[in-house]
Amino acid sequence: MYDIVVVGGGPAGLTAATYARRSGKSVLVIEKDGFGGQISWSPRVENFPGFVSISGTELGDKFLSQAMEQGADVELEEVASIEGVPGKRIVKCLSGAEFEAKAVIIAAGAKPRMLGLENEEALIGNGVCFCAVCDGIFYKDKDVAVNGGGNSALQDALLLSEKCRKVYLIHRRDSFRGEAKLVEALEKRDNVEFILNTTISELVGDTELKALVLDTNGVKSEIAVAGLFVAIGHKPDIASFSGLMELDGAGYAASSEDCTTKTQDIFVAGDCRAKKVHQLTTAVADGASAALAACEYIDSL
Ligand code: NAP
Repeated sequence: MYDIVVVGGGPAGLTAATYARRSGKSVLVIEKDGFGGQISWSPRVENFPGFVSISGTELGDKFLSQAMEQGADVELEEVASIEGVPGKRIVKCLSGAEFEAKAVIIAAGAKPRMLGLENEEALIGNGVCFCAVCDGIFYKDKDVAVNGGGNSALQDALLLSEKCRKVYLIHRRDSFRGEAKLVEALEKRDNVEFILNTTISELVGDTELKALVLDTNGVKSEIAVAGLFVAIGHKPDIASFSGLMELDGAGYAASSEDCTTKTQDIFVAGDCRAKKVHQLTTAVADGASAALAACEYIDSL
């Protein structure tokens, strides 16, 4: 039996593992996709203290190697459910694998939000993308669009402007939510065009994306693009744990400042947690808080 099983191998989960190991607890981190979490998709991270500029993949690798260096075990599995009783949990995976733990930290992060347009799902991989770092190269020298007004959209547009012929940045408001510094950098790129106060109302193309129908204050227009990078935020993917903790209206986990939940042996950290600021720095802060709270719980058993 592990002292702590951490569900999710992003910055929050890996920080939790590092802190728990340094408190002498045995730790297993279970990740379903790739260690590093969402940050792996960021081309450059320039707001994490201690690093003037670092690629998201490199930073994610550092979080992983630090946790493993401290002695955390890791598994690539998808967690299906958390069962058992407080102090003796069974973490069940889709593969059938099961792991026992005295406490569980849920740091499952969030997955990309979709626009909800008719053929959006059918066009994923054939024009509709959610990761410029992963898929940008397929649109080299082509015209593409990015939708969103946060840091992800701004960073995606910057990255794509280095590869693509033209980048339209479509946002539903007249100003961006993301950092002014990124907006300034985009304004200097000749091949970037801002399309503001605009939503996408239709994706044109049956088997591959050909164009977008735009709606600007009720006026329709069409732009031809080979790719659309949807960067309109994320939503937590923790509905299967809802019996163990309260979820708010948007599906985020309710918890106290120390990352405790309504269930004494279940803790929550990172982007799946309801809080005002979802940032890399607040994710790692949660990881530390959740780990220390979990250690305190285990020591009280
Ligand atoms: P975000 O900050 O939540 O921004 C989402 C954007 O999408 C907002 O501009 C929002 O518009 C827009 N949007 C939401 N739903 C929409 C819809 N249905 N149709 C059209 N537009 C829609 O998300 P994010 O950019 O993914 O960033 C998430 C967090 O990670 C943020 O805190 C961000 O700062 C952080 N981040 C950090 C880095 C880094 O380098 N450290 C990189 C990327 C992201 P409104 O503005 O109108 O709400």
